[in-house]
Amino acid sequence: FKISMNDLTLLEELGKGNYGTVHRVLHKPTNVTMALKEVRLELDEAKFSQIIMELDILHKAISPQIVEFYGAFFVETCVYICMEYMSAGSIDKLYGDGIPEDVLGKITLAMVKGLKTLKDEHNIIHRDVKPTNVLVNEKGIVKLCDFGVSGNLVASIAKTNIGCQSYMAPERIKAENAGQITYTVHSDIWSLGLSMLEMAKGGYPYDPSTYNNIFAQLQAIVDGEPPELPEDFSEDAKDFVRQCLNKSPRNRPNYAQLLRHPWLHRWETEEVDMAGWVKRALEAREKAKKEGVKEEKPKPALHK
Ligand code: ATP
Ligand code: MG
Repeated sequence: FKISMNDLTLLEELGKGNYGTVHRVLHKPTNVTMALKEVRLELDEAKFSQIIMELDILHKAISPQIVEFYGAFFVETCVYICMEYMSAGSIDKLYGDGIPEDVLGKITLAMVKGLKTLKDEHNIIHRDVKPTNVLVNEKGIVKLCDFGVSGNLVASIAKTNIGCQSYMAPERIKAENAGQITYTVHSDIWSLGLSMLEMAKGGYPYDPSTYNNIFAQLQAIVDGEPPELPEDFSEDAKDFVRQCLNKSPRNRPNYAQLLRHPWLHRWETEEVDMAGWVKRALEAREKAKKEGVKEEKPKPALHK
């Protein structure tokens, strides 16, 4: 069936990206809660139709590690994508000061399995692996979203690409500077490694206070030594990340090899209370929000 704007009741805003806003919506005919992503684009009608057609193959991308796709349509200058609502949101809003190794293990396992399914079964390279595109629900289930299925959508978005935190692999940064547009699965594996570091540390690995502009940051990615996991992580975990962040793309492991790595393999069988972690992370986020408000209150004293 096809979804249209008339079928949807707009509920609260879930977040804003560089290209538009994501809302929680209710699909009235089915009574299903969905996430509605809006992407603003300056394109002609024919291009919009092409994008919608390309997005349609998402109906076939069904996997436990991939956010379910319900449909896409366009209205005026926006593409709208309806997808599964993930009640705990994206990982970037949950990792706090950094997540423990076992939780990182389960998240990484889901990411690698999702990326492998996209590649092997649908021949899709994600192209935008980063913590905001890793979603979680209250059951502790982890899924990927926002992968590059539509060539036309990817190309239209790339033209207006901004963003101050780059998850791009060194070879991608160099290729982009040379005006090339090739993209391989190796680059997604770099972005996976960088995302793992961010989740483990609780912040983007190329510290914004050291690299105070995007140029210096990109330079550090291309010319510098790759960053590492914090000291308190196991040697196996550090080795896993080190392999993903190999500066030479051909030397990075593929998904099958990553799944066989002793560190990742361990989380296939080890039990981790992911639902409990999500619950505590959501509580900590609420607490931080409240305290943030409190801290701002005592100000008037200064004016006396
Ligand atoms: P960028 O614009 O660079 O891709 P982004 O991924 O943060 O960054 P969006 O994809 O527009 O931007 O998403 C905005 C926010 O909405 C996300 O950070 C996430 O917190 C939230 N979000 C997106 N999709 C869902 C979903 N299916 N369920 C719940 N929350 C979502
Ligand atoms: Mg996103």
